[in-house]
Amino acid sequence: MRIVYPTVSLQNILAVTPELLREIGVTALILDVDNTLSLHGSQSPAEGTVEWSWNMRQNGIKMMILSNNTRDRVRPFAAQYGLDFLSRGCKPLPFVYRSAARKMHVERKSVAVVGDQIFTDVLGANLCGMKSILLEPIQKEGSFSFRLRRKMERGIRNRLQQDKVDRERK
Ligand SMILES: [Mg+2]
Repeated sequence: MRIVYPTVSLQNILAVTPELLREIGVTALILDVDNTLSLHGSQSPAEGTVEWSWNMRQNGIKMMILSNNTRDRVRPFAAQYGLDFLSRGCKPLPFVYRSAARKMHVERKSVAVVGDQIFTDVLGANLCGMKSILLEPIQKEGSFSFRLRRKMERGIRNRLQQDKVDRERK
């Protein structure tokens, strides 16, 4: 089941640093929107994330936004970061990640997908040979389909947490 495990798991996007990316050989990021950069459906960037994105770019990290949400939702949001974007992404299907890598002129193995969902963000990245960075969702969602998805994620997230504890003990 390696295909559903991320390269790295972190609390939130602000914990992604140029140093960490250098360690895992990543020079470009594909960023999810809902519950990664903002609350679900919100046009307001989460605190510190616009500055974070500028800092990453100043450190030579390329990035673009990729969301399964609509163009109307994603375009004005991406504009606040000054970032290129793809909407209606059909994540986790690999073709959309491949076109994102092409747009950024980077090899797939140098790209990390950053997102809050295992069965879209992480799975899609792993399916097409990219790295993946799993975050905690900014806020828990209320709908039935989301609760189901989070329930399916729980075992994997628990295991990641356990791995972290084991590493710290060593
Ligand atoms: Mg998301």
